[in-house]
Amino acid sequence: MCTFGGILTEYPWISIDSFLQTNCEVSRVFFISHIHTDHLRGLDQSTFSQYVTNNRSIRIYCSDTTRHFLSKLSAYKHLSQFYSVLNIDQPFTIQNPVDENSSVTVTCCGAGHCPGSLMLLFEGSHGTILYTGDFRLYSHQSKRHRIILSKKRIDTLYIDMTFFEPSIRQLPERERACEKLIDFIQQYDNQCFYLKTSARVGYEYIYMSLYQHFGILIHVNSEQYHLYDCLPQVQRVLTIDGNKTRLHACWPKCSHTKSSIKIVLSVLWFTLEQQQQRQFKSPLVQISTDYYRLCYSLHSSYNEICTFVKQISPTRVHPIALPDQINSERFNELLKQLGINQSPIISFAPSNAQQQIKRRYHHTIENVYNNDTDEELEFDYHENRKTNEKQLFKRISNLQLPLTKKCKKDYEK
Ligand SMILES: [Zn+2]
Ligand SMILES: [Zn+2]
Repeated sequence: MCTFGGILTEYPWISIDSFLQTNCEVSRVFFISHIHTDHLRGLDQSTFSQYVTNNRSIRIYCSDTTRHFLSKLSAYKHLSQFYSVLNIDQPFTIQNPVDENSSVTVTCCGAGHCPGSLMLLFEGSHGTILYTGDFRLYSHQSKRHRIILSKKRIDTLYIDMTFFEPSIRQLPERERACEKLIDFIQQYDNQCFYLKTSARVGYEYIYMSLYQHFGILIHVNSEQYHLYDCLPQVQRVLTIDGNKTRLHACWPKCSHTKSSIKIVLSVLWFTLEQQQQRQFKSPLVQISTDYYRLCYSLHSSYNEICTFVKQISPTRVHPIALPDQINSERFNELLKQLGINQSPIISFAPSNAQQQIKRRYHHTIENVYNNDTDEELEFDYHENRKTNEKQLFKRISNLQLPLTKKCKKDYEK
């Protein structure tokens, strides 16, 4: 669950990854850590575009890659003129537009999550803040991480703790998952494969590795293909011609995938199974005859989070995402094991109820509409799913948290 409303407590004039009314009421400067939809809350709404248009001092910062992606997406391209580019590892100072005595120095570095994903470091009179956004750093990588090498004292670490749960101690490295996938595909000569992805971006390493190994292009739809106009090294391994290939990652599925073996690139399913004590010997698991799941995580495992937190050794930790079932006592207990004693306990009510309802019941939607059983963690939705989701929102909009059986029952009516 997402546990951060976007406003930096130390610098409330700055909001990150949230563009809702509550953010607009206090923030003047906005940052986008990466392109996944759950980090663009409110960016597509008319209230935000009016706010930006009427207040010329408003700034929206993101990486160059993110800016390119946004300029390709119909929901966000109308704001193109307002996106300012952040350059990796080049500190710069931003002024609070409504208070000339208030400024912060911002430095950004890669987050290892998806193309264009950034971590943001803010330094100013109210403390040094590191915001990781969604991130994946293997334990050995975090030792070499710029922020850690800089030995800066971090007062508050805003961190992605999606898998901060000891039963999710390890997740296969993406390279290893990809090797497994290649070994598997290699066993078949003329078989067609369908790779089911859940987010707009984040699977580029797989596409490129498959092409490198088999010399076969990957079929994607035209929107997806052109999203990569800014990343020619990725685009050159893709094709919009489904006839040309037996490797498909198209959405909606094209007609050539009819007798394909389906491989769902997922992680949530694996982590839920792990929490039920199920152990996996391989990142690739057969579910039924022509249906497999590959554990492919864009988020750090429990061990990777712990290594990162210990090395940063911040005074306070503010989770930006946590496992659904964790409570504040458990959270603080786990933090204590990392040498961080924080009080008062941070309360972390979910910040984006609607999206979380959607995530929780995605399973059901997919079942109904696609005869499918995939969860999505990054859960970007594709344009043609919007109507389905609108209907779902209608049904659930009157429901209150906690979103337990009642929601499901109502939905199933
Ligand atoms: Zn993400
Ligand atoms: Zn296809």
